[in-house]
Amino acid sequence: MPTDTVEDYLKAIYRIESRGGPPVSTSQIAEALEKTPATVTSMVETLADRGLLSREKYKGVELTPAGEVAALEVVRRHRLIESFLAEQLDYEPTEVHDEADALEHHVSEEFTRRVERLLDYPAADPHGDPIPPADLSTPEDSGTTLVAALEPGERGTVVRVSDRDPDVLEFLVDADITPGTTVEVVEVTSFGLVTVRTDGGDEHGLPEAVADRVYVRRAADSTAATDGQEAGDA
Ligand SMILES: [Zn+2]
Repeated sequence: MPTDTVEDYLKAIYRIESRGGPPVSTSQIAEALEKTPATVTSMVETLADRGLLSREKYKGVELTPAGEVAALEVVRRHRLIESFLAEQLDYEPTEVHDEADALEHHVSEEFTRRVERLLDYPAADPHGDPIPPADLSTPEDSGTTLVAALEPGERGTVVRVSDRDPDVLEFLVDADITPGTTVEVVEVTSFGLVTVRTDGGDEHGLPEAVADRVYVRRAADSTAATDGQEAGDA
C-alpha cells in the first residue's frame, strides 16, 4: 500500500478529529477523501491492523497515539510547505493547498526543518491552521466559528479560514476575510445569512456554509461575554 494513501487517510482523520473529536465515522472519511465507503472500510481495517487506528463497533475510528504522531508529521509538512509556497514563491492563498497535498508525501524531515527555520518558525499556515512543532506536540487549535463566537454587534479577529473548498476560500480572500482581519457581525438572518463588516468598513453577506469556514477569536473589548468562549493567545 502506498505511503501517500496511508498519509492521506491519517491526515483526513486527524482533521475531522480536531474539528469534532473522535470517533470518526466511515462516511465522514469517505466524504473527506471522496472515496466509496467500501474502500474506506477496507483501508480502515488495514490501518487498524498496523496499530494506527482503534475501532469501536458501530461508532467509528480514533487515531491511536502512533497514528496521531504519523498524522501530525504529515500535517506539519503540509502546513510548512503551504507557508513556504505563499511566502517564498508568491503562490496565492487559494493555490497552496493542492500543491502542498502533492508535495507533502515527498519531502524529508530535514527539508521540513530547513523550511521551518527559513520561515522563522511560523505558528500558523497561510489559512491560519496551527503548524505542529518539530516535537509533534498537538498544536493548540485556536478560534471558534464566526456565528458561534460573535453575537451581532460584536467584533473579533479572524484566526483561521478553512481551506477545504477552493471556491469558498477564493470568496473569502476576495472579501478580504483572511487571518488577521477584524470582523464585526452585523446581522444573522433566520435563514443563516451572516452579514459582516471588515476593517475597511465593507459589508459582506456570507451564506451559512461560508460563515462556518471562518474561525475567529472575540475581541477583548467586545461587549456581552459569551459562555464557553475559548481562550487563546496564539
Ligand atoms: Zn492545506
